[in-house]
Amino acid sequence: MEIKISGLSKHYVSGGKTIKALDEVDLIIPAQGIFTLLGPSGCGKTTLLRSIVGLEHPDRGEIAIGGEVVWSQDKGIYVPTERRGLGMVFQTYAIWPHMTVFDNVAYPLVTRKVPRAEVRERVARTLRFVQLEGFESRPATRLSGGQQQRVALARALVAEPKVILFDEPLSNLDAKLREETRKELRTFLSELSITAVYVTHDRIEALALSDTIAVMNQGRIIEIGSPEKIYFDAEHSFVADFIGRANLLPATVVAQEEGRTLVDSPLGRVACKARPALKPGDAVTLCFRPEFIRLEPGEPGPSHNSFPGRVESLVFIGEAFEGEVKAGEALLFVKAPPDLSLRQGDAVSVVLDPKHCMLLAV
Ligand code: ATP
Repeated sequence: MEIKISGLSKHYVSGGKTIKALDEVDLIIPAQGIFTLLGPSGCGKTTLLRSIVGLEHPDRGEIAIGGEVVWSQDKGIYVPTERRGLGMVFQTYAIWPHMTVFDNVAYPLVTRKVPRAEVRERVARTLRFVQLEGFESRPATRLSGGQQQRVALARALVAEPKVILFDEPLSNLDAKLREETRKELRTFLSELSITAVYVTHDRIEALALSDTIAVMNQGRIIEIGSPEKIYFDAEHSFVADFIGRANLLPATVVAQEEGRTLVDSPLGRVACKARPALKPGDAVTLCFRPEFIRLEPGEPGPSHNSFPGRVESLVFIGEAFEGEVKAGEALLFVKAPPDLSLRQGDAVSVVLDPKHCMLLAV
């Protein structure tokens, strides 16, 4: 079910200071697929999620789920949480330690007074779906972290919600388990025709899991797009920087030439992916990612987008070298293949492909 959020604002007062947790948020979350709210700690993700759930009362605005207004300040509408048809999975597993797996998953049905035979059938079906068949009578605490998270998922799914909301559900798992559970979750969710709203501050998780990412900062939605769009083709420097390591340099537009936009930057003159709307003299931010910088030993030839540089530092991290290269007036963060034979102090050419040089709003 589509979720439509219009003009949603929420402020808190803390220690005499006003905090805008949500600042005029407008958002349409599509009826299907995994929609992720991504942003730094304190940007308002949880407040937005809790407002959708009905656990938070915003100051202004409207929330509609599947066309039904569930909250509106102006119209005086508040549909309570249990009547919004949602499933939720939170950071802490939030499963009840004194109950068995069966009782945990059955709980939402029991509170709705579903007949016992139907409860048994639906719990069995849901446990089969999350691959926990045979675990019914196990105390919930005698499971691994990943299995406990699957119990929480089963409990959220058993009542067949049209929308499921996740608040940092994997943050208590160790790195390897987090990766596995993320893959499972993606598989489970893609088999259901359901709206999934996922909150995280972990950019890798957002990239790996989402169909659409909305990047938030200071109570506002900054940019929305597919993981590829957000990573390769962001429009705002905040987004490009937040979603992955990026070199961001102040630059001035020089000309539009042969399907490229030319800029002057601390690195020198750089041919970039075309932004035809820009005019000479416009101030922009030049952005390119470390993995798209090609380093070649020695001085560059007279080709386009090749700049002389010197290796300032280089650290071996297994799958790559990471380090810094001074080129022109810029200190660039670089990532190079592990078999590269370069040392600190070596002269290098820094080669940039124009299609990976993005021009962003300052
Ligand atoms: P995190 O990733 O750390 O959970 P978040 O992006 O989910 O952060 P929110 O929890 O929505 O952010 O908080 C948004 C802002 O509102 C923060 O500055 C936070 O300190 C503030 N805030 C949230 N709840 C309250 C509250 N009950 N009282 C006062 N301030 C609050």
